[in-house]
Amino acid sequence: MTYPRDLIGYGANPPDPKWPNGARIAINFVMNYEEGSEPSVQDGEGFTEVALTDAHGLGQGVDGRDLAGEGLFAYGSRVGFWRLMRLFQNRGLPMTIFGCALALERNREAAQTIRESGFDCCCHGWRWIKHFELSEAEERDHIQRAIASLKETLGERPLGWYCRYGPSVNTRKLVVEEGGFLYDSDAYDDELPYWTEVDQKAHLVVPYSLTNNDTKFCGSFATSNDYFEWHKDAFDMLYREGATAPKMMSVGLHMRLIGHPARAAGLERFLDYVMGHEDVWITRRIDIARHWTETHPYSGPLA
Ligand SMILES: [Zn+2]
Repeated sequence: MTYPRDLIGYGANPPDPKWPNGARIAINFVMNYEEGSEPSVQDGEGFTEVALTDAHGLGQGVDGRDLAGEGLFAYGSRVGFWRLMRLFQNRGLPMTIFGCALALERNREAAQTIRESGFDCCCHGWRWIKHFELSEAEERDHIQRAIASLKETLGERPLGWYCRYGPSVNTRKLVVEEGGFLYDSDAYDDELPYWTEVDQKAHLVVPYSLTNNDTKFCGSFATSNDYFEWHKDAFDMLYREGATAPKMMSVGLHMRLIGHPARAAGLERFLDYVMGHEDVWITRRIDIARHWTETHPYSGPLA
């Protein structure tokens, strides 16, 4: 049996992405829309999720509903969402929504605004729960429910897939089996898209980043400067390398985290910093997936 991991990838000579207009870097900002789909007493999990909030995952040990935890989440959909939309739309910048279907059902005004924005939606599950705890049949059902729900709230089906944290060992197979997805982002192992083969079918992976991500505010970032400096350093190195070997950068955002003003200030500075550079392709995830599919079609054993 062959070892079921690829520890080699592109190695020393990654392909030239040939980004549009000779860009040195393609940068994709992702807003995770999760608030309202997380584990909760109301939805049957028996506890209130407080991950990626100012509770820092400590929890209060509340028996039943944790109203503080619920509020820390709701800030994201009530306030943070609108601040992030303003930061991007006022600059004419695109963004990708990692959309949890049930969360968007519960805020139709936000869904309508996303629908009108032209931002693309990559499906972040029906619920913001751990897919690796679902059976294969349950997971298939969740994927189908999510697609149907997003079709209804956003007007079109999602073309990308991304699980909360880690996928299950079945997720990619189920995403390919469903047949309508152009890519998934359940990967942290590269800086460029790549093809993989699933059940004799070519499947595109657009890797995401938990490194360039505001989740570090629940660990190592204290101030907006920490956020700015981290992302500036990543951008600067990729931009330098991109002179000869262009790269991709994903930046993850959470409404209930970086949507708070003291943190959003770091994002605002970073957006303006990036916009001050030439040869940068700030784009949606679906555009990266489509570009890769057209410019670097699968040429493996199936071709
Ligand atoms: Zn997420």
